[in-house]
Amino acid sequence: MTIAETADPDDVVQTLYLSLLGRAADPAGLDFLTQLVNFEDPAAVAALGDIFIASSEFQNSFAAGSSENFVRSVYFNLFDRNAGTDEVEAWTDRLDAQGLDRADLPAAVLEAARESDLEAYEAKLFIADYVTDQTERGGYLPDALTFPALRSNDELYADLNRLDAEYDTLSLEVVGASLDARPLYAATVGTGEASLLFITQQHGDEPIGTEAAMYFLDFLAGDSELARSLRDEVTVTVVPRVNPDGFARWEREVGGERGLVDPRLNNNEIDLNRTYDPAAPFTADVAPESVAVRELLARLDPDFVFDYHGQGNYRDAEGELDTMSVLWPTNTGVDPAIVDASKRAVAAIAASLEDYDYDQLTLYPGAETASIARNGFSLAGTPGVLVEQRFGQEMTELARGLDVDYSALISALALEGFITMQGLVEAAADGSIETLDPALAEQIPERSPSVRYADLYSDDSYGAEELLIA
Ligand SMILES: [Zn+2]
Repeated sequence: MTIAETADPDDVVQTLYLSLLGRAADPAGLDFLTQLVNFEDPAAVAALGDIFIASSEFQNSFAAGSSENFVRSVYFNLFDRNAGTDEVEAWTDRLDAQGLDRADLPAAVLEAARESDLEAYEAKLFIADYVTDQTERGGYLPDALTFPALRSNDELYADLNRLDAEYDTLSLEVVGASLDARPLYAATVGTGEASLLFITQQHGDEPIGTEAAMYFLDFLAGDSELARSLRDEVTVTVVPRVNPDGFARWEREVGGERGLVDPRLNNNEIDLNRTYDPAAPFTADVAPESVAVRELLARLDPDFVFDYHGQGNYRDAEGELDTMSVLWPTNTGVDPAIVDASKRAVAAIAASLEDYDYDQLTLYPGAETASIARNGFSLAGTPGVLVEQRFGQEMTELARGLDVDYSALISALALEGFITMQGLVEAAADGSIETLDPALAEQIPERSPSVRYADLYSDDSYGAEELLIA
C-alpha cells in the first residue's frame, strides 16, 4: 500500500503529517483535512501537500532547508532510516532539475520504495494512527513514535531502575540471576485483587515482548486516569527478559563473533521453555532462570501467566504477514477449567487488537509437551498463555551481519505487544476475562504458511543472495 494507491483519506492525510511534519496527525487536523479535500481528484490531493509545505510548522523545520535536507527528512520520517547518498542525489535532482514539486515527493518516494521500506512505512503509519487515536481517547502515548534500537541488558536494567525511581506506584525486586550472574528483575504495579504475571524473552533472541513490557510498565505506573483505575483492580508483575545471557550472545553475534551457544538457550545450552514440567523441575545449577520464574509463580499465585516470545514470518494467501500467534495449554493432563480460563484470556487478546488493521492474529501450532511454559504452568494450576510475535527471522539475519534498520518495525511490534498487555489488564479489571466465551479463541485462524526471509525482501538492494547464507 502506498499513498498513491490508497483510497483511504485518513491514510493520505496521516502520511502527509508523517512525511512532511514528522509526527502523527492531531485528531482535529485529521478531521479537518479529510473533509476539506475530494480524494477522488489527484490534483486536490496534490494541493493538500502544498498546505503542509506552506504551514509554519513545516517552514520552521529542518526539512524546509535545502533539497538534500528535505529528501533526508522525508526518508527518515517515512522509513525511519537515513537515506543513502545515491538516493539523496537522485531525488534532489528530480526536485531541482526536473521540476518535481516538494509536495509530491512523499508519494514519489513511496512509489519507488523497496519492500523493507514499505514495511517500515506501514509500521510507522500504524504507530501514527495509534497515537492520533489515543490523543483523542486520552490513552497512553509513547515518548516518541519509534525507538532507535533494542535495549541492551544494561539499558534494560537502567530503565527499570529509572521507572522504579520515577513512580511510587511501581516496585522493583531482583528475583534471581542468570548463569552469568545478570539480575532477573520483577516489576510490580497495582494493588488490585486480580493478579497477572507477564514474562518475556525466555529465548534470548526474541526481544519484542521485553520492549512491549517496558512501554506497558511506563503506562501502568503512570498517572493517567485509566492507569489509576486499572491499578485499583489489578496487580501486575512483569519479568522482562528471562534470558539476558542469550540476548548478550545475540548482541555479540551482531558484532561479528561466531561459534557461540545459540542465543535461544541459556549458558548451559538449556531451552528455558522446556523446563517447566512440574513433575520434573530443573535445578538452579542447570537453569537458575527457570527456578526464579517458578518460585515467583508459586509465591504470587497469579490468576494468569503470559509468556511472550518471537516467531518467524508467516504469510497468508493475500500476502499479509502474521504479526502475532497465541495458544492456550494443550497438554491433555491440564484441568479443563484451566484450559477454558486460558482460552478466555486468548479471546481478550483478540478483542484488544480488533481496532488495529496492522495486526494479523493467528493460532500457534504448539505441542503438548508438559515442560513448555503454557503447559507446565497450567499443569501446576495457573492458566498459561503463549504469545508469539514476528521478528525471529530478522533477528537471525541481523546476527548474521545483515545491516538493515528495523527500528520502525520493532517499534510497531512492541506497540502491538503493549496493546495486548493493556487489553488483558483491562479485561481482568472489568471482569470480562472471566466471562468471555472460550470458543471465541478457537475462531482465531490457523497460522499462515511460513515464508523464507529471502522471499520477503527479494527486491531489496542488499540482495537476496546474501540472505541465503545458511
Ligand atoms: Zn520462544
